[in-house]
Amino acid sequence: MSSAVLVINCGSSSIKYALIEADPEAPRLAGLAERLGSPEARLKGENSRGESFTLPLSGADHTQALQAIFERLEGREPSAVGHRIVHGGEHFTQAAQIDDTVIEAIKETAALAPLHNPANLEGVLATRQIFPALPQVAVFDTAFHQTLAPRAYRYALPQALYRDHAIRRYGFHGTSHAYVSQRVAQLSERGNGGWLTAHLGNGCSTCAVWQGRSQDTSMGLTPLEGVVMGTRSGDVDPGLHAHLARQLDWSLDRIDTLLNKESGLLGLSGLSNDMRELEQAAGKGHEGAQLAVEVFCYRIAKSLAALSCALPQLDGVIFTGGIGENSAFVRQRVIELLPHFAFSLAPERNTATIRGAEGKLDRHEHDGPQVWVIPTDEEGRIAMETRHCLEAL
Ligand code: AMP
Repeated sequence: MSSAVLVINCGSSSIKYALIEADPEAPRLAGLAERLGSPEARLKGENSRGESFTLPLSGADHTQALQAIFERLEGREPSAVGHRIVHGGEHFTQAAQIDDTVIEAIKETAALAPLHNPANLEGVLATRQIFPALPQVAVFDTAFHQTLAPRAYRYALPQALYRDHAIRRYGFHGTSHAYVSQRVAQLSERGNGGWLTAHLGNGCSTCAVWQGRSQDTSMGLTPLEGVVMGTRSGDVDPGLHAHLARQLDWSLDRIDTLLNKESGLLGLSGLSNDMRELEQAAGKGHEGAQLAVEVFCYRIAKSLAALSCALPQLDGVIFTGGIGENSAFVRQRVIELLPHFAFSLAPERNTATIRGAEGKLDRHEHDGPQVWVIPTDEEGRIAMETRHCLEAL
């Protein structure tokens, strides 16, 4: 039987997939079905020879798209499917094999992630329909952070909101923070010590990891809390909501759209949510872009400094995600803004880091905390957790 795991990340109108063998060197088949439910629906991907393809899927729903994905796996039948599920609430502290009980629990958690969990579940139900015998595993973005202590996960709100409505901090991007902190433990002589991780992509979050366990993280009840993101504001004064409602007569939906879709790098710059574009514009003197990049870096530095309180010792910081892996400028600026931590970033190593490379960016061997860049591998981590979950049964 094949040992390949098909990793599925199902959104409301898209399905990202990757077929991953147990051997990490084996080539992956990966792609994306997008614009599902519309006449422009299509499947884009790469075959095992690295050639890209685009297949029109006009009007296809999730089930039809999954069928098309299975047909593009070049006859390599997966032995299991691993699904990315955004919110596992307090119910899931690790990956779980999907059965009726797990499906019910994911549905119950949907109130906490109304945009994500129902879409994630569509992928689960469609896979079940097509391949009822294939084992499926749910891997949760929140599970890695279930090791947070109450002092880190409780909001200073009346107890009943936590007790009766599960209102607390959960944290997200768990597979990414887990992957890079485990990877650095293999690469650095500091091993499984105290690490700060910065996942900087379209969504951004930071995390403090001690001996492989998440101690605190920047995202909270929803992925809106914390640092500045592409279009999300991150932290604002909670009084902002009442102010906008009273002074501008804004509805909750309007405020929600403002904070999730119109803010962050896009809102601050008035130009773009894309860091590449902003760095170029900032270089040419665009003031909005300069401000957006500076606020972005400052808020990350501030968040990392705050999270260091959760660690008994600091062994280093790890940058990952599209921005963390590729923007030498952001890495350098964040480190500059943390002068008390005695990092020793080598500017030439930082700028010479090529796309996809992992490594330490320090000037020389020193006693202070290290700076690492490690490309994240959320799909690889989901495949690994899927295998471990099924082997443990
Ligand atoms: P992700 O969500 O992880 O794919 O990250 C997307 C973000 O990474 C976008 O803001 C991109 O502009 C940013 N990004 C990708 N490549 C670069 C680069 N070379 N320099 C700066 N930002 C980059």
